[in-house]
Amino acid sequence: MSGTEVTRMKQKAAPVPLGTLISRELRSDNVEKPTVKYGQAGLAKKGEDYFLVKPDCQRITGNTSTSFSVFAILDGHNGISAAIFTKENLLNNVLSAIPQGLDREEWLQALPRALVAGFVKTDIEFQQKGETSGTTVTFVVIDGWTITVASVGDSRCILDTQEGVVSLLTVDHRLEENEEERQRVTASGGEVGRLNIFGGNEVGPLRCWPGGLCLSRSIGDTDVGEFIVPIPHVKQVKLSNAGGRLIIASDGIWDALSSDLAAQSCRGLPADLAAKMVVKEALRSRGLKDDTTCLVVDIIPYDHPVLPPTPRKRQNLLSSFIFGRRSQNSRSKKLSTVGIVEELFEEGSAMLAERLGKDFPLNSSSGLFRCAICQVDQPASEGLSVNSGPFFSPASKPWEGPFLCANCRRKKDAMEGKRPSRAALTA
Ligand SMILES: [Zn+2]
Repeated sequence: MSGTEVTRMKQKAAPVPLGTLISRELRSDNVEKPTVKYGQAGLAKKGEDYFLVKPDCQRITGNTSTSFSVFAILDGHNGISAAIFTKENLLNNVLSAIPQGLDREEWLQALPRALVAGFVKTDIEFQQKGETSGTTVTFVVIDGWTITVASVGDSRCILDTQEGVVSLLTVDHRLEENEEERQRVTASGGEVGRLNIFGGNEVGPLRCWPGGLCLSRSIGDTDVGEFIVPIPHVKQVKLSNAGGRLIIASDGIWDALSSDLAAQSCRGLPADLAAKMVVKEALRSRGLKDDTTCLVVDIIPYDHPVLPPTPRKRQNLLSSFIFGRRSQNSRSKKLSTVGIVEELFEEGSAMLAERLGKDFPLNSSSGLFRCAICQVDQPASEGLSVNSGPFFSPASKPWEGPFLCANCRRKKDAMEGKRPSRAALTA
């Protein structure tokens, strides 16, 4: 790292006086912050769905003008411990990856990277427990009109705006439906195929082997190859001040209802009734085949009690959203406008180097580097020790991402298929 970069990092990390932060907040558009109303409904078949509702988080503790909300759906498989562990730890792991002293705009810009770090950290910590379950996660942060969604697995989040435009804020990490993910898993040492029974007949959806999981990304799944990664797809959008409605739900809903049908089924209803209606519609068309959990979150102009009904004439622009493609530059701000929802950020790459940037935050007082994933401070030599090849050598160029501690670097290499996965080692 160059000297100027170190200086910049130090300046960014310097604490900003509380008074300055508050006056910054007052100058921003917080006066017109929207109201967030939510409802939840669900029916259990296996009892592996969990959800998280945290409507009253604060960026600066004690300062109500810095409030934001968090909502998440977690759909566990092969047990419930990964879903419970993630529900209890993911939010803290994400927040601890955001540098101190940022203003609101900087905080929102730092969030996509912190979500990646928090998801991976949670996965590493869960796997260290030696339990074998896994979970999808769809994790939504709402700050004012800005919505940030991070997801692994197939629990979707859709956005229904006042203009009647329904859009998907997640991608489905299902091997059956995601060609790019199949290629990644295969390139990282996994095999993709269907279950073979009845004398060689192939049945069911595409799965990865070893493990037999239908998903290509999840948290947990210690007994499945490390190519099933916890690195989330992240999308950040800004609503117009007309507001909008989020429907976050497990695949029990989405296997029964399209995004459009789910949105249409509950328009005009307040959030709590809307969540019940979506679940009812899903059960009506398919019956209770799977855990079915739904969160409806309305982001409403503060002087409106409910989201006003959508105009009759609808224009479905879902197909004009292009998903699943890697953007060329993860830090670039795309500003494509669909309807009047402003797209601020989208990145889905499974490569950590493309997701974490290149910062090397040196703690000047201790002379230690901070791991970009678990936030542990280590001397550079520790992070190097597991790696063949010198870390800073201009000749070998071994790793273009930020500093990672030895543990997180091991995880990175395993996810990219550069080491035998745990499952292969124990087989
Ligand atoms: Zn680490």
